[in-house]
Amino acid sequence: MSGGTLPLVFSAPRRGKPPRHWADLTAAERREAVEALGHRAFRARQLSAHYFAGLRTDPAEWTDLPAEVRDELATTFMPPLLNRVHELTCDDGATVKSLWRLHDGATVESVLMRYPDRATMCVSSQAGCGMACPFCATGQGGLQRNMSTAEIVEQVVDGARRLGRGEIAGGPGRISNVVFMGMGEPMANYKAVIGAVRQLVTPAPDGLGMSARGITVSTVGLVPRIQQLATEGLPVTLAISLHAPDDELRDELVPVNTRWNVDEVVDAAWEYAKITKRRVSIEYILIKDINDQAHRADLLAKVLRRGNWGWVHVNLIPLNPTKGATKWQPSDLADQEEFVRRLEHRGVPVTVRDTRGREIDAACGQLAASERA
Ligand code: SF4
Repeated sequence: MSGGTLPLVFSAPRRGKPPRHWADLTAAERREAVEALGHRAFRARQLSAHYFAGLRTDPAEWTDLPAEVRDELATTFMPPLLNRVHELTCDDGATVKSLWRLHDGATVESVLMRYPDRATMCVSSQAGCGMACPFCATGQGGLQRNMSTAEIVEQVVDGARRLGRGEIAGGPGRISNVVFMGMGEPMANYKAVIGAVRQLVTPAPDGLGMSARGITVSTVGLVPRIQQLATEGLPVTLAISLHAPDDELRDELVPVNTRWNVDEVVDAAWEYAKITKRRVSIEYILIKDINDQAHRADLLAKVLRRGNWGWVHVNLIPLNPTKGATKWQPSDLADQEEFVRRLEHRGVPVTVRDTRGREIDAACGQLAASERA
């Protein structure tokens, strides 16, 4: 199998840190920082109300603050972190992908997907990715750097602002779900990702006031981090990118499997479900003649079996073919249907993920492919 030659990279290269931003700080740190600038501490609450509740970063709109302090506070605490390079829309404007350039030139992407009953923001957590999955263009490009907490939060704030202002097809709305399934392995940037989740779930005005139940953190299976996540008191949904039920194939498709194998990852996921009472998602990209055989469906049911089926849900994802990667093709529909049938036969809760955003490569790790192609 091609592509297995890239090394796994767990630690991001050290690069210039992005500027400090309001969304990097806790409520207490914000008060201290405002006072250190010579302002009264209550200004912090005003600023938070503008940023998190009003989604206003333009100081001209901060009319409850004296005009002479607004620019200083904006420059100090809300430096622009994401510079939109371009944007693609599909699904009649209900799916919007943004390509962002960060302060050091690194590029990342986010995708806003609007459905009749919810709006989901898919965010990146690293520029590039060090997990080296051979079917994934981002993985083939390697890891550039970790994103900061604020760089992650800003992707959500941008989507929330645009939805709130009615700029997305379907009229004004709110972000109901955030999924960490853009570029990067969230668990390899654990501290910033947890920091971002805390900013999302902290009640307004100190955070965005979202429900942890609407947040999904995905991982290829960094077992110690899964165990750590279970202790954070943040009942987010955990999604495991499994993609193969046997170690022989998974060692190649998801190279981190050579560190923590299928059984270890599934055990950690099962423990997570027990501790948090949250059903775990098992993500499985169906790749023609690679991992979509009927016997692998049977084996998948076998390796996931833990007590009853209440702890898990399998999401089958039709592969997004990437340019120039002819080896990696979506499964034939008949094979996909047989795979589903076999899981259902054994009682495994399973759905085939809709292919929203398909025209614009909106899937884990496939986001940046078009930029490099
Ligand atoms: S599939 Fe996801 S984890 Fe694997 S290399 Fe791509 S971005 Fe990283």
